[in-house]
Amino acid sequence: MSLRHFETAPGPVDSGSARAAPAGPVLTVTGLRAGYGPIQVLHGLDLEIAAGEVHAIIGGNGAGKTTLLRAISGLIQPSAGSIDFCGNELAGRSPAEIVDCGVGHAPEGHRVFRGLTVEENLRLGAFRRPGKTRASVNSALAEIFEFFPKLSERRRQLAGTLSGGEQQMCAIGRALMTAPKLLIIDELSLGLAPIIVEELLHILSKIHAAGTTLLLVEQDVSVALGFSDRATVVSSGQVALRGPARDLLADPQIITTYLGG
Ligand code: ATP
Repeated sequence: MSLRHFETAPGPVDSGSARAAPAGPVLTVTGLRAGYGPIQVLHGLDLEIAAGEVHAIIGGNGAGKTTLLRAISGLIQPSAGSIDFCGNELAGRSPAEIVDCGVGHAPEGHRVFRGLTVEENLRLGAFRRPGKTRASVNSALAEIFEFFPKLSERRRQLAGTLSGGEQQMCAIGRALMTAPKLLIIDELSLGLAPIIVEELLHILSKIHAAGTTLLLVEQDVSVALGFSDRATVVSSGQVALRGPARDLLADPQIITTYLGG
């Protein structure tokens, strides 16, 4: 199995889905090296996300997927390489500046402020919303509640008392309140029942249809590849494979070789 076999040709990608063909890249990661102190995790990783696509990052435990997302969002600083987002270099910027550039991140573990209500969590997300006014925040909130009616019903409930799926909705909603061009979601399905994952994917497809590019890290390979246009397989901090998700899904060898099962 060679990288070349799955690499997509330059230019628009035919995802085979009902979605419109993606345009040029919004995100281009080149030669990224990053880690934690002396521990190097990413070893010269390259990644390209086209505008309008749904892109999945998959890989075994400890491959470096979350580390990649953290580097893109400025939660850790790369030691080398570049992260170009719509013509802006993200490497070296703070997480807040990266939010301002248009990158929203729903981190692993459905992170919410447990002692705040759902609405307070969402309003916190609007903290860095560009050109924010009371009216624009209220209208963003209404839009989030349209995507997530369950959050609307529970707007005055403490986020810590929500179910796992509702907490994931709240975390995604909070990231959406920054009006991102690129929404990053780390481990959408972690710890959630299949029916809840299905509900979340249904909502995400609406968010995507409304114009947001999606980057997902997902342990469940069938969820990841079934929902995405293209995917990148990360192994030991490097890209092992990339290509149309349906091609990767059709090759059982990928699971055994790179995903350990
Ligand atoms: P998983 O699917 O299991 O979440 P992953 O592909 O997301 O794995 P990362 O979380 O990026 O992998 O971890 C990659 C490596 O970095 C692992 O060996 C992990 O132990 C290490 N690592 C992650 N976070 C830290 C940290 N804060 N300090 C030190 N090492 C870390």
